[in-house]
Amino acid sequence: MNDQKGFTTTILHSDRLLKPEFGALHQPVHNAVTWGYDDVQGLVNVFQNKAKGYAYSRQGNPTTTALEHKVTQMEQGMASITFSTGMAAITATVLALIKEGDHIIASSYLFGNTRSIMQTFSDIGISMSFVDATDVENIKGAYQPNTRMVLIETIANPATQIADMNPIGDFCEEKGLLYVVDNTMTSPYLYRPVTAKASLVINSLTKYIGGHGNALGGSVTDTGLFNWANYPNIAPIIREQIKPEMQGMSQIRKRGLRDGGGTLGPEAAHAISVGSETLALRMERACANALSLAQFLEQHPLVSKVYYPGLENHPQHEVAKTLFRRSGALMSFALVDGVDLFAFLNRLKLVIKSSNLGDTRTLAIPVAHTIFFELGAERRAEMGIPDSMIRLSVGIEEIEDLLKDFSTALQEA
Ligand SMILES: *Cc1c(COP(=O)(O)O)cnc(C)c1O
Repeated sequence: MNDQKGFTTTILHSDRLLKPEFGALHQPVHNAVTWGYDDVQGLVNVFQNKAKGYAYSRQGNPTTTALEHKVTQMEQGMASITFSTGMAAITATVLALIKEGDHIIASSYLFGNTRSIMQTFSDIGISMSFVDATDVENIKGAYQPNTRMVLIETIANPATQIADMNPIGDFCEEKGLLYVVDNTMTSPYLYRPVTAKASLVINSLTKYIGGHGNALGGSVTDTGLFNWANYPNIAPIIREQIKPEMQGMSQIRKRGLRDGGGTLGPEAAHAISVGSETLALRMERACANALSLAQFLEQHPLVSKVYYPGLENHPQHEVAKTLFRRSGALMSFALVDGVDLFAFLNRLKLVIKSSNLGDTRTLAIPVAHTIFFELGAERRAEMGIPDSMIRLSVGIEEIEDLLKDFSTALQEA
């Protein structure tokens, strides 16, 4: 739709295309919970999907609509729905489209809370297989006649494994499976899952898209590639009322967002929307910083291993180069035995000890003691997570300052 313009140009001018009042450059923050109609037929038409409009803010609001347009443009998709968090987007998508007795194939390297909610879904009768998604053969091996969805992430957190994006897309197309890709770690600036034939793209807007650690949000985008007419779980009322290409989004908006209630607030939507204007600039800087830091850490004698797709020794380095514009701004590294992990982290003066990622500031967290603590030592060992692993979300500080912070903290070890 806007693909002839550049990524940033498109985002900067997106709100104006919706013609906000008085020529405002941003869609305003609409704090209304509800909308009033002078003629009741107007309200009825909105309820019956006969006219576009708003009735009650849990289902949508002009501020979230404007952000949804932006996300759709970023992903070059067909339509998007925003949520209060990335987890709300994932939960709503699965609950709206999957039934008891259906089977989902998911990556075994999923984000911890996604893995955990998948476990909850299996407790209520959805069957799950977790496989190593770096090779499509593992997905094929887990396929069953009741498989409906494949859920993967582009770059895994914290060990940076990269999914076999294009072959998985071909397999999902062949079998008519929903291919759901969590693009949070790459963001639509580095990568568009639609190019791998993804059906639905999830983003945690909290991370790179919002980018400043000041608002939570999530989204799901329909790429327009999935054939909803053949999907068995579409409700009869949606089949009757909604044109086929919009049936998936309609079901997610009604069952997932309206009924589930994980609505994005207008202030958060506005903060994310403004943050997204600089996504491309921030990613360029953060990814360049990440590569420099990875190269520095890799040759340091106190560092035993660096996990970063931009390094030539990364197992999927070549795949990453062909798929992604840059290698990402997330990396992990492990220290050699004998270095005190906590003492090292506490010597970092600039780098913040924090669990978020995708912030403008560089953040570090000891993985085994925090985000992967609940898994236990055995599962961590299976997943190749050493006790001394540190995950870094690299920010946009000047690289000289970051290198100095790390080299000083390592020198004193
Ligand atoms: C953070 C994250 C989520 C969850 O997003 P929230 O906005 O924190 O709920 C989902 N997937 C990935 C890959 C993430 O990094």
